[in-house]
Amino acid sequence: MGHEASGIIVKIGKDVQGNFKVGQHVAMNLRNPCGKCYYCLNDMAHFCERFSNHPGAMAEYAAYKPEALFPLPDDVSLETGAFLEPASIAVHAVDNAHMKIGDTVLITGGGSIGLLIMQIALHYGASKVLVSDPIAEKRQLALQLGADVVVDPLKENLLEVSRKFTDGRGFNVSFETTGILAIARQLILLAECSGTVVWVATYQGNRDVGVPITYTHTKEITIRNVCPSPYADYKALKMLSKLDLKPMMTVFPLQDALKAFEAHKIGKNVKILLKP
Ligand SMILES: [Zn+2]
Repeated sequence: MGHEASGIIVKIGKDVQGNFKVGQHVAMNLRNPCGKCYYCLNDMAHFCERFSNHPGAMAEYAAYKPEALFPLPDDVSLETGAFLEPASIAVHAVDNAHMKIGDTVLITGGGSIGLLIMQIALHYGASKVLVSDPIAEKRQLALQLGADVVVDPLKENLLEVSRKFTDGRGFNVSFETTGILAIARQLILLAECSGTVVWVATYQGNRDVGVPITYTHTKEITIRNVCPSPYADYKALKMLSKLDLKPMMTVFPLQDALKAFEAHKIGKNVKILLKP
């Protein structure tokens, strides 16, 4: 809990090396790859063989290894810094999509990951973006942040609207962020020839999506997945000041944490922050 965090350095361990200073604003990442195994040494630390996580920062004080700290530039607030971790997933998702300028983009799920992917895809040169989410507030926010069209998948037919939106061809790139298996499969049917589907969410249980293989063969569709990758942290850090994050935040004081959890359960807020 509280793994998407930022803070102010109050104390530095005596063995810590680097240019850290007391009072410095930093973002923290929960991931703690070993740095020594085959995958860490081959630039794939997200597959680390001795991977562990830092505890969350939903507290007034928390201890992190220096490798998990990212000093924030002066123009990045602590609130914005707390978006580093989800922004790094969005960066990795767009990288894995191998997007091209002018691509049409579908995003299912208008939560923080979906809307971060959308903003980064727009920076990358997406020509048209459709966002699907059943919650009206999230659809409205998607429009405000640059989506061309939004769909309520409970009331509209996503397949029909998408085909109309893409002149019947489907999307060059689709990102699935809901974690719903049926939607993960639906994205395959919505891909244009030579399109890429990126399953960004995590899916419960080791269940079969049911890929229509003749369809993916004749359309040369690529399916990619996303495991959070440490290389993306530095890229995300450079992107934070370019993203419009304020409309995505709802801030609660730490003492109102219970109210924050209640608000989260209702599901209308994209990103809830607790601030001491
Ligand atoms: Zn490792």
